[in-house]
Amino acid sequence: MQETTKISAAVSEITERISAACIRAGRNPDEVTLIAVSKTMPVEAIREAMACGLKEFGENKPQELRDKQAVIKEPLHWHMIGALQTNKLKYVVGKTVLIHSVDSLHLAEAIDEASEKRGIVSDILLEVNISGEASKHGIAPEKLEELLRELVHFSHIKVRGLMTVAPYTEQAEENRVYFKKMKQLMVDINSKNIDNIAMDVLSMGMTGDFEVAVEEGATLVRVGTGIFGHRVYPHK
Ligand SMILES: *Cc1c(COP(=O)(O)O)cnc(C)c1O
Repeated sequence: MQETTKISAAVSEITERISAACIRAGRNPDEVTLIAVSKTMPVEAIREAMACGLKEFGENKPQELRDKQAVIKEPLHWHMIGALQTNKLKYVVGKTVLIHSVDSLHLAEAIDEASEKRGIVSDILLEVNISGEASKHGIAPEKLEELLRELVHFSHIKVRGLMTVAPYTEQAEENRVYFKKMKQLMVDINSKNIDNIAMDVLSMGMTGDFEVAVEEGATLVRVGTGIFGHRVYPHK
């Protein structure tokens, strides 16, 4: 008999909860993809998640991504979900399927340039600070359209949709309002028919609130703790 690990039990549970949330919302579970956020987790933990059939992994530090890719050669889909500096793009552009955390013209321009050099088009999401919390990355919702209109000039990036990190809360329901606003923001922008902009990806929902995010239209959920357990950060 095969041993059921903690990680495999967690992956099954989260997958079932995503499906149930889809069904409650009248959505097809195929519309939602689970990204396992493996930041700070060792390669062995990623391998356990891979053994459960997971292929999508999220990392927030370019060098950590590079180090993991040096060891794990299987063709996974890596997602960059953390704040990015332009001097780290060499570890990200061409090495990830999606960059979730683009929140400035400057960064988008640098990704476009790095992608052109490699002869590729990079899929990106724009990170929105939907709650307005001062501690959060992301562009203000009211600045989004202006930024998108500037991005139409770049031919080596493709804006696939929006991403947000909702406030930390013990009550997932409290974030429903923000997830609703994200969905509406995407619908509103799509209706403006800005050149080349047809967004269909909504990256939102984490361990504490992914079911509510799915009910409100998330297509990508980013779950770390719920799969791998608590992260232990090294002392600085
Ligand atoms: C760490 C992180 C996650 C996962 O958070 P959990 O609460 O552990 O699920 C999701 N998104 C981003 C951007 C993160 O940095």
